[in-house]
Amino acid sequence: MQTHILGYPRIGSHRELKKACEQYWAGKISKNDLLKAAHEVKKHNWQLQKDAGIDLIPSNDFSFYDHVLDMALTVNAIPKRYHEVLFEKGNTELDLYFAMARGYQKDTLDITAMEMTKWFDTNYHYIVPEFYPNQEFKLFSTKIVDEFKEAKHLGISTKPVLVGPVSFLLLGKEKASGFHRVALLEKLLPVYLDILGQLEELGATWVQFDEPFLALDLSAAEKMALNNTYSTIKKHFPKLKILVATYFEGLKDNLKLALKLPICALHIDLVHNPEQLTEVLEHAPEELSISLGLVDGRNIWKNDLESSLAIIKKAEKIVGPDRILIAPSCSLLHVPCDLDLENDVKSLAAEVKGWLAFAKQKVREVTALQDLTNETLQATTIALLEDSKTATASRKTAKTIHNSKVKERAKAIATSHTQRKNAFEIRKDIQRKNLGLPAYPTTTIGSFPQTKEVRAWRAQFKKGDLSITEYERLLQTETEKTIRWQEEIDLDVLVHGEFERNDMVEYFGERLNGFAFTKFGWVQSYGSRCVKPPIIYGDIERPEAMTVAWSTYAQSLTHKVVKGMLTGPVTILQWSFVRNDQPRAVTCKQIALAIRDEVTDLEKAGIKIIQIDEPALREGLPLRKADWEHYLEWAISAFRISASGVNDATQIHTHMCYSEFNDIIQHIAAMDADVITIECSRSQMELLDAFAKFNYPNEIGPGVYDIHSPRVPNKKEMVALLEKAKAVIPEDQLWINPDCGLKTRHWEETKAALTEMVSAAKNMRAALSKKAVI
Ligand code: GLN
Ligand code: ZN
Repeated sequence: MQTHILGYPRIGSHRELKKACEQYWAGKISKNDLLKAAHEVKKHNWQLQKDAGIDLIPSNDFSFYDHVLDMALTVNAIPKRYHEVLFEKGNTELDLYFAMARGYQKDTLDITAMEMTKWFDTNYHYIVPEFYPNQEFKLFSTKIVDEFKEAKHLGISTKPVLVGPVSFLLLGKEKASGFHRVALLEKLLPVYLDILGQLEELGATWVQFDEPFLALDLSAAEKMALNNTYSTIKKHFPKLKILVATYFEGLKDNLKLALKLPICALHIDLVHNPEQLTEVLEHAPEELSISLGLVDGRNIWKNDLESSLAIIKKAEKIVGPDRILIAPSCSLLHVPCDLDLENDVKSLAAEVKGWLAFAKQKVREVTALQDLTNETLQATTIALLEDSKTATASRKTAKTIHNSKVKERAKAIATSHTQRKNAFEIRKDIQRKNLGLPAYPTTTIGSFPQTKEVRAWRAQFKKGDLSITEYERLLQTETEKTIRWQEEIDLDVLVHGEFERNDMVEYFGERLNGFAFTKFGWVQSYGSRCVKPPIIYGDIERPEAMTVAWSTYAQSLTHKVVKGMLTGPVTILQWSFVRNDQPRAVTCKQIALAIRDEVTDLEKAGIKIIQIDEPALREGLPLRKADWEHYLEWAISAFRISASGVNDATQIHTHMCYSEFNDIIQHIAAMDADVITIECSRSQMELLDAFAKFNYPNEIGPGVYDIHSPRVPNKKEMVALLEKAKAVIPEDQLWINPDCGLKTRHWEETKAALTEMVSAAKNMRAALSKKAVI
């Protein structure tokens, strides 16, 4: 029985790589310094796994930015527009690589970055490869081979990890019509063979190919491509041990295909889909080893070693110990580095810490599982087993987790809790009277610029250098300035600006029971960007109002309507580490009830419009289409629970960032928000088509300018976009707003852009009243 790791976090436990990259980009350190920093991270990771006793330690799991981009550079899938970067004086392959990731603006060149998108259903983003009809591939970057050598110098013979050829193609996009990217396989494969040849010569015995698509819905051509790939590899390298890794989903209908691949080992994710084990064991051909993905690579809970051991034993009985590998469910990229760093009991209580394991701890869990199959156990393994038993048992009963009041309330939810008192048709008129807004009402998405000063106040407050009264006083002045300014430019529905919030999930998590926070729990989001997701460990309860004071303060300053601003239950769930001892749907329902209480408290306090943001609703969609309905049912219901406690006169808004709405539009409509604001400007209002085709009944605010860019849009382009919107959506349903929140922008551009936006709205209204006179 052997152990292996599919990939280890590459940011460094103190985000060393992030810091080094950013310094390199700023021209503050040399390329050599950056390479040195990277080497230290790799060395540390390899050594840590070696010390823990892992048999197959991965290489090429490191990346300066993204592993899909690495693969693109390896096979020379470098779009033409970047070719010139290499001709600039002093530039190297690394600069070309960063140019593809981040864009390049220097000297006479001005090239945009490649597109980025989410890695399956995680919060990691990868760079999308670009494919062209007659594309030729060749070996360009030698990173895979170099890293193998780098580890070998340190005395570690690694298992190189490559994005498998089929998944690599499927992760990309065709940049011309008339061909399918899978058709490029034939040209791509020789480069992979070239790499395998070099690796074999250097003494590699195992190579891991990540083919996550093997666990997703596949077309016939894609299935064939997988067959061809691994048959070809087998033909050329009969002795190399090829491990194909699947994760995030079960093999399901692809099970037979996967088991027939002429490979040495198949990795399956038994955390996400434990049910697949029996069938896999039953049908696995004799020459195939099975890698059991038992330790959760996506979540931060301690492994229940006893249960995992039972699974190993079961597998052992059927296929024998020699054909079993023990591993985490997927790469550990998605969990923080090291729990040992968390020593601040104020943010992470010792009890909660006792339930957790980060990457370093998970590596040890994997070797402990191997050790547990032996007759005599190491002392440290016995201790780990005891620890695991205690954690598993205490999570079942801990008072800090279980709150019967919350559980009962969630269980007692009836249909009536998910429905507004009356249908939108009736609410609409009541709200119009109540709010007295003009046609094409203008508003913003919530946040206003988080300036250096605002962030400095928060840092000082957290350090104890500012008292809470001083801190809140400063935020109040900022809020008041923002209200005055919104009045001045004549916006219709105002916001308080969200200056008190660091992050739209963390702010609520900090005010709810059942959430814990880490100091160093960083996870790579994209490139050098890391996030620190909150941990939901227990039943969720709202001890007191979370936003009412800020909203009522803002409302007290003006006669105009100030919109209350909340994060929705699905988004809070989606951007946190969640409990694994109950279904996500149950946790989501508990959050929904907490938000519902906040919504009704806001209403009681006189807030007439309340926005519940759900930017993560779509990204929560399961990877297999067959599971969509179930997810959408509980997710939409959670939103409705949070929104339905108010009277007809109170207007509920929701907001979503860039989303394809076509295939889920009836569910968006089922949210029954009175107003939905969406990101629309970059697609030139194309995203509205789904709403138009569906005859979306409620009101819509299609974003009229892109907030991701510092560029100030002018009135004319916004009117043009609004005309487009008007052509497909009845004008009395339309609101006018930017694409998203403004917290990353500067005041100067924000002021200029919103002034233009209000003026665009006034133009639209003028045209409307002219029409009325005629
Ligand atoms: N209300 C939030 C803001 O304005 C919404 C952010 C988001 O959609 N991601 O910042
Ligand atoms: Zn947004």
